[in-house]
Amino acid sequence: MAFESLTRDNIVDFLADIFARRGGESYMGEPVSMSEHMLQTAALAERAGAPNSLVAASLLHDIGHYTSEFPEESLEQGQDNYHETAGADVLTTFFPKSVHEPIKLHVAAKRYLCATKPEYFNRLSPASVNSLNVQGGPMSAGEAAAFEAHEYYRDALRLRVWDDEGKIAGAPTPTFDHYRPLLTGLLVGAER
Ligand code: FE
Repeated sequence: MAFESLTRDNIVDFLADIFARRGGESYMGEPVSMSEHMLQTAALAERAGAPNSLVAASLLHDIGHYTSEFPEESLEQGQDNYHETAGADVLTTFFPKSVHEPIKLHVAAKRYLCATKPEYFNRLSPASVNSLNVQGGPMSAGEAAAFEAHEYYRDALRLRVWDDEGKIAGAPTPTFDHYRPLLTGLLVGAER
């Protein structure tokens, strides 16, 4: 399937297509594939009774790893290599803040939790400790205070915990299609 431009009518198919074609790739040294990881994260959110927007954020939180898949115009807002902002930028056009803000904050959430909850750091997988160092290490007190000023920081923290837990080899989950109605229901009227 070729997506020359993204619209409200094809964005969910576009995301499904990425899951289908690229989801088998490994999740940075973890024992699950990318799609298994994102589906597990969404399933944990759903099981916890999270609102639809946060289930969607959980499902799509690592979509920024696939920016090479996005039509160029959808990345015009600033192409960077930070997967959390790249993913959120694309979703900004089609989904509300309650979806893309927690995604944008999910890496910062790890740095926040490492600074404020020592037991959290001890639970991180080796691959996650590795990326923490690349991402700037635990937050300073000032950074943590600034983080708490974000409207969606609590959602980002919840997403972060499911993100960390969604790495279980072979854990059963619903498929992407299970989440289609939920995603479609969240689309904002940004006709392009
Ligand atoms: Fe993740």
